[in-house]
Amino acid sequence: MQENLSMNNNGTALRGQKEKRLRQYGKVIWMTGLSGAGKTTLAIHLEKELNARGYLTRIIDNDRVRSGLNRDLGFSEDDRHENLRRIAEVAKLFCETGVIVIATFISPTEFSREQARGIIGSDDFMLLYVNASIEVCEKRDVKGLYKKARIGLIPFFTGIDSPFDPPENADIEVETDRISVEEAIDKILSKIIPCVEYRK
Ligand code: ADP
Repeated sequence: MQENLSMNNNGTALRGQKEKRLRQYGKVIWMTGLSGAGKTTLAIHLEKELNARGYLTRIIDNDRVRSGLNRDLGFSEDDRHENLRRIAEVAKLFCETGVIVIATFISPTEFSREQARGIIGSDDFMLLYVNASIEVCEKRDVKGLYKKARIGLIPFFTGIDSPFDPPENADIEVETDRISVEEAIDKILSKIIPCVEYRK
């Protein structure tokens, strides 16, 4: 039998009790990087590895968010910021429930990443820079998006005609054009596990 969670005045249980029940600490792993850098690939592998170790995770990616929560938003600068602001708020809710969130968003500007860090809180936020050169990403062209962007079918495509500011304060960086998926995952896990494993 699980012990009952005690409630706050507003009827919500304390985060610490949920983390105790899950035997893990909530965290948001925010992946930033160019399209094709490897965010989705690494998120899937990371989730698999964390789940194999008994951790509860949640991937939040653009496709799912754009077709649901943020389907009213377009791709203007304001809408892109609003898209990321809402995502950060949702990530925070999961994190406060003790879940390890893996968020995969290009988030090309320092402003957008700092906005997410501000909403989620520095202690719960880990910035993971999935770094591959634009040349390699364009060559991979996983979804054919670079080809479309080059012939003008996708305006303001990050890395082509819209800038990507490399993060200056990433907590973790993996150069996916130099190391394998397995090496990248090992590096990421070695940074994440000490932050999420339950100690009490
Ligand atoms: P993103 O989500 O950042 O747009 P994807 O994960 O969809 O990128 O695509 C990255 C592509 O690069 C995949 O086809 C993946 O197999 C390949 N790839 C090659 N090496 C790596 C690596 N070390 N880490 C991640 N992806 C890699």
